[in-house]
Amino acid sequence: MRLTVCKFGGSSLADGNNIARAADIVKGDPARRFVVVSAPGKRFSADEKITDMLYACYRECEADGSCAASFAKIRKRFTSIVAELGMEGFGIEGVLDETERAIEQKRSADFTASRGEYLNARLIAALLGWEFIDASELIFFDKRGAFDEARSYPVIAARLAACEHAVIPGFYGTGADGEIRTFSRGGSDVSGSIIARGVGADLYENWTDVSGFLACDPRIVSKPQKMEKISYKELRELSYMGANVLHADSIFPVRKGNIPINIKNTFAPDDPGTLILPSVHYVKTHNIVTGIAGKKDFTVLFLEKSMMNSEVGFARRVLSVLEKENIGFEHMPSGIDTLSLVIESRYLAGGVLERLIDEIRDAVAPDYVRVLENIALVATVGHGMASNVGTSARLFGALSQAGINIRMIDQGSSELNIIVGIDNADYERCVRAIYREFFETPAGADA
Ligand code: ASP
Repeated sequence: MRLTVCKFGGSSLADGNNIARAADIVKGDPARRFVVVSAPGKRFSADEKITDMLYACYRECEADGSCAASFAKIRKRFTSIVAELGMEGFGIEGVLDETERAIEQKRSADFTASRGEYLNARLIAALLGWEFIDASELIFFDKRGAFDEARSYPVIAARLAACEHAVIPGFYGTGADGEIRTFSRGGSDVSGSIIARGVGADLYENWTDVSGFLACDPRIVSKPQKMEKISYKELRELSYMGANVLHADSIFPVRKGNIPINIKNTFAPDDPGTLILPSVHYVKTHNIVTGIAGKKDFTVLFLEKSMMNSEVGFARRVLSVLEKENIGFEHMPSGIDTLSLVIESRYLAGGVLERLIDEIRDAVAPDYVRVLENIALVATVGHGMASNVGTSARLFGALSQAGINIRMIDQGSSELNIIVGIDNADYERCVRAIYREFFETPAGADA
C-alpha cells in the first residue's frame, strides 16, 4: 500500500471553507495517511497570518505581561473557523483559554509562534476524526539549534508505525532544553519533509495555492511556463537563487530518502502540479533550460596577481581573511591569475568592505583589486544544458542582443547552471531576455 505524507500551507487553510476543501482532498486518497499543517494564513492580501498575530502577542506579553489584546484577534479567527466548519462541539474556547495562559506563562517567542500550527492541527484532527500527534513528540533539535535527525527519525518511525492516520502540526519541535523551538518562517514545509522521510513515504505532497513552479518570476515575465518535472538538484539551484515556492531546507530530508515531492494546488486539485524528483527517478524533458532565477545586491571583489596559479596557498589565505571576518561567499570564479569573490552586499556595509580589502592586501599582496558593487546574479538552470552544444552561445547571444553587459560568468562544474553577474539595473531585462531565448524561441531560430 502506497504511503503519502501531505502538507497543507497557510493559504490552503486560511478559513473554514478552505479547511473543508483540504479535508476532502485528504479523504480523496487512502494513501494520504499523515497530514502536516501550517497555521491559518491570509484570506485576502491585506489579511494577517495567524503566525504574525502570534508574534505580536509575544511582543505585547513582553511589554505588558499580558497578551489579551492581540490574543483576542486570534480567538476571533479560530472561533469563526470553528463556526464555518459547524464544529461548535469541539470546545475551542477551552483550548484557546489554555493556550493564552501558556503563552503568558512561557514568555517564549518560539512557543508563542508555534501555537498557530498546534491549534490548527488539533482542529483538523477533530474534523477528520484522526489522531492528533504533537510535533514536540516527533521532531527534535540539537544543542546548536539544528534539526537532530539521529534522534528524530527513529522516534517518528516508531510512533507513526503504531498509527493509521494522524494530523501533525508543522513548523516546530522540541529543543535540546526540552522547550518548543521553531524552524525559520515557512518551516512547515521542512516538517512535512522530515515526517515523509521518517515514515519512509512514497510521496511528499505539498499543497499550496499555486499549481507548481514557474520557469521564472511571473512579476518579470507574464505567464511563464510551468515546470512539470524538476530534479532536486535543479530545485536546489533555483530556490537558492530566490525561487520560493518551497522552504529551501525542505529539500534535504526527502532528497536523502529519494522521496519525490509533488507541489499541488489546493484550489485546483486536478492540476498535476510540479513533480520534484530525486536524480535516480529523474526523467529528462525536452527542455534545455528548466528555469531561471536570480537575486540582486551582490558585491564582487576581483583580485589579480601574476603567477597566482603557482603561489601555493593563495586562495586559502584569501579565504582565511573572510573566515576571520565571519563572512561567507556565494561564488568564487577564478582564472590563471585572477580570483573573484561574490559576496552579499549586506555583509559588507559600515566599513567592512574597506577593512576586508586592507586585510586581503596584507595577506596576499595582489597586483590589482577591483570592486564591483550593485551586482545581480541570474542563474539559468537545467540538466539539458550539459548535453546541448551551444547553450552558452545562445545565452550570451541573447544578452548581447538585449544590450546587457555581463560583468561576471560562473558555470557550476555540474554543467547544471550558468550564472551571470550583471548590474542590478539590468536584472529584469536579463531574465526576460533569457526566458525569450529558451522558452519562446525555437532552437536554431534567429532571435
Ligand atoms: N506558520 C509559519 C509561518 O507563517 C510556518 C509555515 O506556515 O510554514 O512562517
